[in-house]
Amino acid sequence: MLLTITCTPPEGAAWPASDLGFLLHKNPGRVQAFEQSYGIAHVLYPEASEQRCTVALLLEVDPIRLVRGRSRNTPDFSLGQYVNDRPYAASSLLSVALGSVFRTALRGRCELRPELARTELPLRVELPAVPCKGGPEAARKVFAPLGWEVVATPLPLDPAFPEWGESHYLRLELSGTMRLADALSHLYVLLPVLDGAKHYWLAADEVDKLIRTASGWLGEHPERAWITRRYLARRQSLVRTALARLAEVDDVDPEQLDAVEDTGESNGSADPTEASAVHEAATRTPSLAVARRAAVRAALHEAGAHRVLDLGCGEGVLLRELLSDRMFTEIVGVDVSMRALNIAKRRLRLERMPERMAQRLTLLQGALTYTDARLRGYDAAVLMEVIEHVDPPRLGALERSVFGSAAPDSVLVTTPNSEINVRFEGLAAGEFRHDDHRFEWTRAEFTAWADGVAARYGYAVRYVPIGTPDPEFGPPTQMAVFTKRTTNDEKGAA
Ligand code: SAH
Repeated sequence: MLLTITCTPPEGAAWPASDLGFLLHKNPGRVQAFEQSYGIAHVLYPEASEQRCTVALLLEVDPIRLVRGRSRNTPDFSLGQYVNDRPYAASSLLSVALGSVFRTALRGRCELRPELARTELPLRVELPAVPCKGGPEAARKVFAPLGWEVVATPLPLDPAFPEWGESHYLRLELSGTMRLADALSHLYVLLPVLDGAKHYWLAADEVDKLIRTASGWLGEHPERAWITRRYLARRQSLVRTALARLAEVDDVDPEQLDAVEDTGESNGSADPTEASAVHEAATRTPSLAVARRAAVRAALHEAGAHRVLDLGCGEGVLLRELLSDRMFTEIVGVDVSMRALNIAKRRLRLERMPERMAQRLTLLQGALTYTDARLRGYDAAVLMEVIEHVDPPRLGALERSVFGSAAPDSVLVTTPNSEINVRFEGLAAGEFRHDDHRFEWTRAEFTAWADGVAARYGYAVRYVPIGTPDPEFGPPTQMAVFTKRTTNDEKGAA
C-alpha cells in the first residue's frame, strides 16, 4: 500500500522543495519505520532536491495482525482474514497511518517553518491502488470540489485477461495547490470514504475526529452528507450528530462562499434507499451557518439598517456577506480576539480590497462587556452566536454596553436552541455543541432573558426561528430581533 506526495515549488520560490521534510517532521535523509497495530508504516523520500521533493508512505500490512486485535466475538472468523486486499490497497489503514505518522502535519503545525505550513503549495498525490466501489466518478466528486484536479484510472481485474473488465480499484492522481495540512486532511477523511469498508472499530470519538480534521472544508462540501455517512459507516445516529455539528462549524474560506451557496442545492449522490430526514436536510437545504447569515441579513434589511455593527464578528464570514451588499454603507466588526480579527483581515483580503469597499469596513478590537463610545449611534448591531461565549455573570455588563450605551435602533441576537441537543447523539445530557460555550438556552430561557433586556432598555422584541425546525424541539438556532421603542430623534443626543 503506497502513497506519494510530491511538492514542486514555483520557480523563484524562497524555499527548497526538500523543506517538505520540515512540514512532515520527517528527515528526507532517512528511511524511518513506525510500528502500527496492523503492520509497519515506512516513510522515505525517493527524491529530495531543491526543485522537487517526494515523500512516500509505504504500509506493510500484516493481515493476520490486522484481525488479531479484534474481540473474540468477531463474527467474521473466516478465510477472509487471511486472504484479502489489505496489504495492497490504499484504504482506511492508510488513513490511520497518516493520522499517526503525520499527526502534527495534519494539524497544520510546524514550529520550524510556520509560514510554510500556512502556504498553499503545488502538490501532487499518487496512489497506485485505491479501492473505490463508486468508480472514478466517486473519486472525482469527493476530491474535485476541494480544489484537486483528479485523474482516476480504473485498474483491470486481471491485466492478462482484459475481457474480464475493470476491478473496483483505481489508480488515483491528484494535483492541486493547497496547504499540506489540508491535503492530508482530505486524504485522511476521504480514502476510507471511497473504500467504504472500515477496518477498525468505530469508536464514539470518531465524530470528534471527523469534526476536528475536516471542519475546515467538509461543512460546505456539496457531498458532505454522503461523505459523512460513508465515513461513519452509516451509523445513522452518529451521522446525524456529525452533520449537525458540521453545520455549526463555519470555517469556510469567504472566497468560496458564493460558490458554496450555489451548491447548497446540489444532491448528486442521493441514494433513495438510504434517504433519511437528515440526509435530505443536509443536501437540499443550505447549512445552518448559511441559513443563519441569510436570516440576519434579511432582518437587517427589514429594519432598514445601513450602518451596522457585527459584535463578536469572529473571523469575518458575516462581514464579507455584508460588504457584498450595497445596502450596508458602514460596517464595523468588533471582536475581543486579535487572532480572529487578523484571520478576518486576511480572509477579506483587506489590503487588496478596492478602496471604495475598504472604506465601508472598520475592524475594532474590543470587549463587549465594557462600554465603548466608538459603538454609539449605529442603525443596528448583530450578535451572531456570541452571547453563549460570555460567562453568565458578565451578561449584565454586555447588556449595558450593547443596549444601554451603544444603543442602536435594532439589535439581532442569535444563539443555539439547547432543546434540540437531545437529537444529537454523542452529546451527553448537559453537554454543549461547542467547547467554548458557557451556556446553551432553551427557547423559554432565551425569551425570558430577551424579554427582560427589552423591558429594561426600552426595546420591543420578536423571535425568529432559524434552520429546519424539529416538530417537538424547535429550530436549531433562535434569533431575537430587538427594536428600540424611542424615536430616532434621541439618537443624536446619545
Ligand atoms: N459572530 C461570528 C463568531 C461567533 S464565535 C459568527 O457567527 O461566525 C463568538 C465570537 O465572539 C468569537 O470570535 C469571540 O472572540 C467573540 N467574543 C466572545 N466574547 C466576547 C466579548 N466579551 N467581547 C467581544 N467579542 C467576544
